Amino acid sequence: MDNPCKKILLVFALIFMSTFGFSQPGQIRVRFIGNCGLYMTDGTSNIYFDFPYKSGAFGYMKYDRSALDSIKDNSAFLFTHRHPDHYSKKLVNKFNGKAYGPWNKAELEKLSSSIPGFSIQPFKTKHRFASKHNSYLVTWHGKRIYISGDTEHADTIAAVHGIDWAFVPSWIVTDAWERQLKIDTKKIAVYHLYPNEQFNVDNPEKIILLDKQGKVIDIAY
Ligand SMILES: [Zn+2]
Repeated sequence: MDNPCKKILLVFALIFMSTFGFSQPGQIRVRFIGNCGLYMTDGTSNIYFDFPYKSGAFGYMKYDRSALDSIKDNSAFLFTHRHPDHYSKKLVNKFNGKAYGPWNKAELEKLSSSIPGFSIQPFKTKHRFASKHNSYLVTWHGKRIYISGDTEHADTIAAVHGIDWAFVPSWIVTDAWERQLKIDTKKIAVYHLYPNEQFNVDNPEKIILLDKQGKVIDIAY
């Protein structure tokens, strides 16, 4: 590096990269906890979906105490609805973080502005025996992540375009397939399986099963 021209070029390159952020690719890490429970972080903010729930409710997945102990301070807890296999009021109240869901729309809007590079769009979707249920489209660092929750039909997700990762229960995949609805997403993660439930996918490149708790998905941005 004794050529001065090279040195100047390097300095310019460094200034350029630090100004425009080209040198900082990042990732959103998603950890599957159980049922529809997901932990997402970009290394700065911590967001939980449908967690904490009541472990083992309705015969669905139990989780270890460590899943609760590892919850970071100032996490945001987002819920699709308040059934016990998705939500536990008792556990939510134990943590300092704030709970968001279909019951506090205005608060949900505020959340978008409080997390850097993050926005969330709720969709009112139907779920048996729940008076209120939301599905969500999260846009975080430009990545579009769809959270379906427990809603029974694929119509809402089929109306959303350009999804990067869709988190959906198996019945949404089946409903879309039976009714010839296209889910416009690069990847699908199937969640809310019963312990040891089998679900056959014919396209493992695109569809992964969240059948093992603790599974990690990294979404590069
Ligand atoms: Zn459920």
